[in-house]
Amino acid sequence: MSVQERDPVQNIMSSVARPVGTSSNEYHGCEQTPSPKASRSPSSLELLQQELRTERLTAICELNTENKTLQQINRLLNRSRRIIMLTGAGISCNAGIPDFRSSSGLYDLVKKQFPELPLMSGQEMFDISLFRDELKISAFATFMERLYSSVQMARPTKTHKFIAHLKDRNKLLRCYTQNIDGLEEDLGLAMSKSDKDGIAIAGFNSRWKNYDVVQLHGDLKSLACTRCFHVFEWSRYWCRSFRRGELPTCPTCEEESFKRVQQGKRQSGVVGFLRPNVVLYGENHPGCEFIAQGLNLDVQRGRPDFFIVMGTSLRVDGVKRLVRQISRQVHERGGIVILINKTTIGDSSWNGVIDYQILCDCDDWVTYLEAQIPDFFNTQKQVDKLRQLKREASDLRKKALEEQKNYGLLASMKTPPATPVKVNSSQDIKAEENLENVKKRILTSTKSPAKKHKKC
Ligand SMILES: [Zn+2]
Repeated sequence: MSVQERDPVQNIMSSVARPVGTSSNEYHGCEQTPSPKASRSPSSLELLQQELRTERLTAICELNTENKTLQQINRLLNRSRRIIMLTGAGISCNAGIPDFRSSSGLYDLVKKQFPELPLMSGQEMFDISLFRDELKISAFATFMERLYSSVQMARPTKTHKFIAHLKDRNKLLRCYTQNIDGLEEDLGLAMSKSDKDGIAIAGFNSRWKNYDVVQLHGDLKSLACTRCFHVFEWSRYWCRSFRRGELPTCPTCEEESFKRVQQGKRQSGVVGFLRPNVVLYGENHPGCEFIAQGLNLDVQRGRPDFFIVMGTSLRVDGVKRLVRQISRQVHERGGIVILINKTTIGDSSWNGVIDYQILCDCDDWVTYLEAQIPDFFNTQKQVDKLRQLKREASDLRKKALEEQKNYGLLASMKTPPATPVKVNSSQDIKAEENLENVKKRILTSTKSPAKKHKKC
């Protein structure tokens, strides 16, 4: 079986195809957006969406301020309300975390400590089969401690801050990440916990909605027992143990074993070991069903309208399926899918799934956005303040208009009515004039025979 066929996200996606705990009828409930009436002309947003939809994956190789398509993408992003994200190792490179699947630094270190170990690739170091070999377990322990130390030193990047900003603006529907560094947590984002019992517990929807970031490959910042699956925080003592190439024993299992002895029962003889709570190739994600149900909720009822894939080349099969699933829903709602990555995924199989791939460093893209759509980077507090000021200004205008209207009414009430005398007098004058004219005409007509007579 190839590594791609055994990746952890595959298991999640298999469960997505088989929705858990929610009937298909529930998906088409009241939260569905009604289909626009055929007679209605498209809004400016719909026109922009239609213009940006592509049938072929389009590459944008430069963050050019003159690029019309980039400007349109920025405009649409600015107007989007339910953004869904998928991130990979590329967003953490600038944080100083080595790309541990290909970086030679960490492997060289392990190699020095275990010279007799046959060369292990990045994939091998993350494959469940390593637990069959004592030497490989030791190398794994050392490697993981080094990785954990580098994560402890790392600070969130501009891209992590961008994700946190989307959350602040209530625009982040969910961020799915392939990373195990948990740097988003440093910015106050809520990370999903691998909750095996999540589906059975009532109120799943409200609990899922509280998670901002879903870690598809687990969490390096915690340790889990190989037997009882209890989760622990790293301690200095355990760090030293890992560095020496030893996996510590699980305190919970030890306690249970001790109790059995005290009760005079037979010792079970099995005490688990602690290992980083990451999901290895070839093993199931402990929260597989939980994440699958959450993903179903997001795509069916979360109404995503923009999908950003960042810092990943999408080489793993499970993640490819996840992208296709989300993309279908986003496209159905008129949104678009963009990928920000240094290297191209230029493969025709992505036609109609991803609209644009922007080939650049993830942090550079965020910097570019800051310059292009500064309003988008206002904090929610600033946006609220601006709205409040606008409301106050509008209220003031209304009040002023009202006052002006009242004043006008008052003024018209104080003005004395027009004097009828003047009008009547002029009418009287006109009537008098008319009367005089009539008199003159009568007099002239009575005098006329005399005149005639005179002439004769
Ligand atoms: Zn245990």
